[in-house]
Amino acid sequence: MTPVLLITGGSRGIGAATARLAAQVGYAVGLSYRQDAGAAADVVQGIEAAGGRALAVQADVGVEADVERLFSAVQDTLGPLSGLVNNAGTLERQGRVDELDAARLTRIMTTNVIGSFLCAGAAVRRMSTRYGGAGGVIVNVSSRAAVLGSGGEYVDYAASKGAVDTLTVGLAREVAAEGIRVCGVRPGVIETDIHALGGEPGRVARVAPGIPLGRGGTAEEVAQAIVWLLSPAASYVTGTLLDVSGGR
Ligand code: NAP
Repeated sequence: MTPVLLITGGSRGIGAATARLAAQVGYAVGLSYRQDAGAAADVVQGIEAAGGRALAVQADVGVEADVERLFSAVQDTLGPLSGLVNNAGTLERQGRVDELDAARLTRIMTTNVIGSFLCAGAAVRRMSTRYGGAGGVIVNVSSRAAVLGSGGEYVDYAASKGAVDTLTVGLAREVAAEGIRVCGVRPGVIETDIHALGGEPGRVARVAPGIPLGRGGTAEEVAQAIVWLLSPAASYVTGTLLDVSGGR
């Protein structure tokens, strides 16, 4: 049976690269997006043109009803879920902690933390042997920011990724005996549109000289790590946070 993978935020950047690679290695891919329907349709079209199966669903990961609708749509169309990539994430304009208000903090935590928890829970209810499922894998997309803190840029974002790391470690232990592995990747500075949200589209070029490997990473390089963690080749890996950061 074709394994079914759900990737949140699979319409652009790291999520889109992961969707394409996962489809190449044989997954049917459900991908969610928040607003850019055109980008999501492009990813689906590319996968289908290469002979794969994909479905795009509009769903905000921070809205509980959207998450349930997303998981149901993917299972109803593609079949029983065998993997989740908790990838949807966001950040806002660079600034200092003393400039942050509660509204912004709520937006960041709602997408990055609550969204990751809601999707992880929905996946466990479908994959865990406790619920009659066949097991599966969850890969959470965190960030090296969780460790480095992003001072002067977006400590709120970094802290939200710290929470994602804790989710990874805790959930891995919680569901290990139920057929589910839970891992995380911590990308470093990767060439995607996300940096424009911080107000600095050219951030990768500015930061690159300070990265030990001397450059930013690509979404495809992060996708390789995610797809490996999803695969049976990583069958004894759980609760692990894999840095994909060029040494940063
Ligand atoms: P991106 O290019 O900005 O893409 C973000 C994706 O997430 C888009 O598909 C977007 O959909 C979706 N999304 C955002 N908010 C959402 C929400 N509330 N509900 C559902 N979907 C939502 O970002 P990226 O760089 O690929 O980042 C992907 C993940 O990697 C994020 O978790 C990010 O924190 C993490 N990461 C990125 C870097 C980096 O340097 N790029 C480094 C470390 C970690 P729409 O287009 O429809 O809005």
